[in-house]
Amino acid sequence: NTTVYNFGGGAVNDDPRAKDKTITGGKGSNLTEMAEIGLPVPPGFTITTEECVKYLAGGSDFSEALRSDVAAALQHIETAVGKSLGDNDDPLLVSVRSGARVSMPGMMDTVLNLGLNDATVQGLAKVSGDERFAWDSYRRFIQMYSDVVLEVDHGLFEEALEIAKEDKGFYNDTEMEAEDWQALVSEYKAIVEQELGKPFPQDVSHQLWGAIAAVFDSWDSDRAKVYRRLNDIPAGWGTAVNVQAMVFGNMGDTSATGVAFTRDPATGEKAYYGEWLVNAQGEDVVAGIRTPQYLTKAAREKAGAKPLSMEEAMPAAYAELAEVFELLEKHYRDMQDIEFTVQDGKLWMLQTRSGKRTAKAALKMAVDMAGEGLIDEKEAILRVDPMALDQLLHPTLDPKAHRDILTTGLPASPGAASGTIVLDADKAEQMSNAGEKVILCRVETSPEDIHGMHAAQGILTARGGMTSHAAVVARGMGRPCVSGASAVSIDMTSRRLRIGNRELKEGDTLTLDGATGQVMAGTVATIEPEMAGDFGTLMEWADKYRRMRVRTNAETPNDCRMARQFGAEGIGLCRTEHMFFDAGRISAVREMILAESEQGRRDALAKLLPEQRSDFREIFEVMVGLPCTIRLLDPPLHEFLPHGDAEFAELAKVTGHDVDHLKRRAGELHEFNPMLGHRGCRLGITYPEIYEMQARAIFEAACDVAKASGEAPVPEVMVPLVATKRELEILRALIDRTAKEVFAEQGTEIDYLVGTMIELPRAALMADKIAEEARFFSFGTNDLTQTTLGVSRDDSARFLAPYTDQGIFERDPFVSLDIEGVGQLVELAAERGRATRPDIKLGICGEHGGDPASIEFCDKVGLDYVSASPYRVPIARLAAAQSSL
Ligand code: ADP
Ligand code: MG
Ligand code: MG
Repeated sequence: NTTVYNFGGGAVNDDPRAKDKTITGGKGSNLTEMAEIGLPVPPGFTITTEECVKYLAGGSDFSEALRSDVAAALQHIETAVGKSLGDNDDPLLVSVRSGARVSMPGMMDTVLNLGLNDATVQGLAKVSGDERFAWDSYRRFIQMYSDVVLEVDHGLFEEALEIAKEDKGFYNDTEMEAEDWQALVSEYKAIVEQELGKPFPQDVSHQLWGAIAAVFDSWDSDRAKVYRRLNDIPAGWGTAVNVQAMVFGNMGDTSATGVAFTRDPATGEKAYYGEWLVNAQGEDVVAGIRTPQYLTKAAREKAGAKPLSMEEAMPAAYAELAEVFELLEKHYRDMQDIEFTVQDGKLWMLQTRSGKRTAKAALKMAVDMAGEGLIDEKEAILRVDPMALDQLLHPTLDPKAHRDILTTGLPASPGAASGTIVLDADKAEQMSNAGEKVILCRVETSPEDIHGMHAAQGILTARGGMTSHAAVVARGMGRPCVSGASAVSIDMTSRRLRIGNRELKEGDTLTLDGATGQVMAGTVATIEPEMAGDFGTLMEWADKYRRMRVRTNAETPNDCRMARQFGAEGIGLCRTEHMFFDAGRISAVREMILAESEQGRRDALAKLLPEQRSDFREIFEVMVGLPCTIRLLDPPLHEFLPHGDAEFAELAKVTGHDVDHLKRRAGELHEFNPMLGHRGCRLGITYPEIYEMQARAIFEAACDVAKASGEAPVPEVMVPLVATKRELEILRALIDRTAKEVFAEQGTEIDYLVGTMIELPRAALMADKIAEEARFFSFGTNDLTQTTLGVSRDDSARFLAPYTDQGIFERDPFVSLDIEGVGQLVELAAERGRATRPDIKLGICGEHGGDPASIEFCDKVGLDYVSASPYRVPIARLAAAQSSL
């Protein structure tokens, strides 16, 4: 296999590896594809990711094969352009660019204008007839190469430039003349020599290999590692290197550089969207050095901005660009994120990729593109990341709420966020770990800030456009972001934030509206999201293709209503213990627990019966006609015990017992390891009257609702923590007997099921026997994970991070099911249960019911439904559909 692939300049690639992202990376494969469909791509070549992996594993050595392949590929560029690298009269300049399999924004730096030295810069000045351009290019090259390859602090160069401008009284880089740049080049070279003890490399071949090595090495840089960890990117992928002939956007007013999206990445609207700068190069647009200008006339007018849009200033190049947009969307059948340069009026394409987008935009684009016939419904379903829906389901700012607007920046990533002001990423992470909601406020962000951006509810930057680092990363993470709020100044010494004439300090609260760019003091009220429109359409499509049903975990009528709006098709888990904690009830519960006789317990339970009945009635009213799994009391009784003297005194009043007696009784109920103690069905076995009361409340409520509405709910009475068939046999008899009694009293009957949770390994193993008594199984994967791994969920935070960091767990097993281990028990129990009772209903009710990877597993092993918390119901619907496709 060759180590290098050529693109552009008439290169023909028959080898499919040339367009395989795993081999040539995202950037390289797309450059090859663009060239093949006839777009203007400067010629270049791509060194494969395999070479990067070999280089890093092999002690940073280039193979002979690579050296000779690169030499040949360089000739391809030289022939295509008609210039050669290092030619003193007419030098070829190249860029050296990284490009991994997936785009890693800002992770690896590009070196531009490589091939310049003290001699070639003169040649470039002569052939271009533009001294200023030549020296500008050279100073850019020295700075970039020194920063990226030689690791000289880039601050030194920025400082030198600032001083040079100040001396001249200039404000913009564009005011610098040829001589100014030339003088700066001397200074830059002096800086390098001083920092490194040797001169800036003049040998162009040395420059090239240095840059290639730097790209390879950057794969293992700290910031790349952080990004990989946050995005689950394996270290073994490596990055490709692209070497490409330079085109110049800095050749005067007929040249420009820009970035563009074929649709609006924030809203999804079908409108070209982008930013550009005249007489600029490379990353000037995203670096925030000059304020970029609008691409289209419409966008400029909408923003009320003066500087001409590209559409107005360079109509011919713009028209060509618009054609390219259309071509690329048709070719890739997706929204494209494009980088381009105009050299002396001629358009060049430097990059395209599927653009990152907000959840809202992903949804709109998927539905729109299906409407346009660009993709089909199934593809549309697959285009939206289920977890991203989370952003859409959460509240936005109430338009009627008062807003104390401090300033308005750019609406870089939508959504509303309130939190405490934090000025650096480390602190943001610390405070968020401590449970605080924070807003990260920075002048601008860089890859070093990613962990803090992740930890923050929202991000505010003083500088940077819509395509700045902060904006791109925030959109990718789904964090609301306001960027380029130029009225904001940050003083890191006093840790204060000045916005206009208002001063805030770290610790004050701030609200951001990423949809409008508004920055507000304090916390602003929010409203519920819109379920109709594109969201509704996509959900409808998802429902068409999914096999599994989706239920919700809910125990209040409000949650049930919300879940139904989100499309829940029943309750998968109604935890009854939450109902016991209500202020008005807890003393009756305590009375029941502390009673010393069955009669004592029955007296207390009699007080609870009407309360439970009305709880269930309200829930059944909302869920009429739908199955509702209600779990009988599960937690260890000790959780309900009174704490502190006041509570004991209160209880003494209610029960007539004295405090000492109650305390002694509470002491008797103390458990060493309650999680494995007197809980679950063990309560029902020892105190049958508790489950009897709950069963009665369920059936009475169900009969009431059936009579009132004519449509009965379908209660599924679930017995928790069963390990043996016999436990369920005893409790099922009790539930059936209670049902019979209630139906006789009420003169009506309803359908119901009795089943169990599978949450102990033994229950999974004995599922064939247990299924003789159970009409349904619900996998309680929270406890099943705890009991299978022998890990307490509530204590796992102390060691989980090192465990996931070292790859012991791939992901937190309480968030995403341990498919390999716990999954076996689920699969086996499902099989054994079905062997005994082919129509047994199978579902999952742990947290995992809202996790897409776990949902896919549930689908594969044939569960009938998953159950998730209300906000996760749409996520589960979409994930279930994706799994079916
Ligand atoms: P990133 O992966 O960070 O986007 P790129 O490799 O795309 O880095 O390079 C950044 C920018 O450098 C590009 O957007 C483009 O403006 C400029 N650039 C890269 N290669 C060339 C080239 N051959 N000619 C002109 N500009 C280039
Ligand atoms: Mg970059
Ligand atoms: Mg790029």
